[in-house]
Amino acid sequence: MSLFHVSEEILQAQQDAGRASGSVELIAVSKVQPNDRVLAVLQQGHRVFGENRVQEAEGKWPEFQKTFPDAKVHLLGPLQSNKARAAMRLFDCLHTLDRPKLATALARLAQELGHCPALFIQVNTGLEPQKAGIAPDAVDTFVKDCRALDLPVMGLMCIPPVEEEASLHFALLAKLARRNGLEGLSMGMSDDFAKAISFGATHVRVGSAIFGARVQAPHP
Ligand SMILES: *Cc1c(COP(=O)(O)O)cnc(C)c1O
Repeated sequence: MSLFHVSEEILQAQQDAGRASGSVELIAVSKVQPNDRVLAVLQQGHRVFGENRVQEAEGKWPEFQKTFPDAKVHLLGPLQSNKARAAMRLFDCLHTLDRPKLATALARLAQELGHCPALFIQVNTGLEPQKAGIAPDAVDTFVKDCRALDLPVMGLMCIPPVEEEASLHFALLAKLARRNGLEGLSMGMSDDFAKAISFGATHVRVGSAIFGARVQAPHP
């Protein structure tokens, strides 16, 4: 595939779901990709990218942004509290608000810096022990707590278990978001972004379908 094909498929999925065109944001996941592939996608006019690690993004995006100042970068990987300050400087959006301690750290930094990136709360829809995220039955309380901290939570994010039908997880995430009055749904990757759009995804995170297979395995 390619940026062109993924964009076409997104348009089609939006249309099939009776959704307005432009209601889905494509995040091109550039983690671990060689710079020439990322540059090619920038040159094709795409401006929204996703990275998994603060350090990798720091080594890459400030340089690209000299040439493409309107490029936006979203953090999709877990965020350690001690990297929160750097993350708030680098990223336009954090998709992995996954625990109370991080919420408190972000709220404190937001006060200090006078701004905060848009936030998605990561939900562990499959209750997988190795995966980060808020348990589904704890989401309502966590959303309330984040709002009490004045954090700009725009939606929920999930990574469905590989072995399971993703639809069940997309539907659950959509239900949790609706019930909490949240508009944003960050869900859907290369293999299932069209399906995620049919369940209401507002942000799809697509890597290999745009850039090709990752050259080396991403760090966990
Ligand atoms: C790597 C990654 C993606 C993109 O995965 P692809 O299968 O290459 O599309 C999306 N979301 C997260 C959280 C990721 O870590």
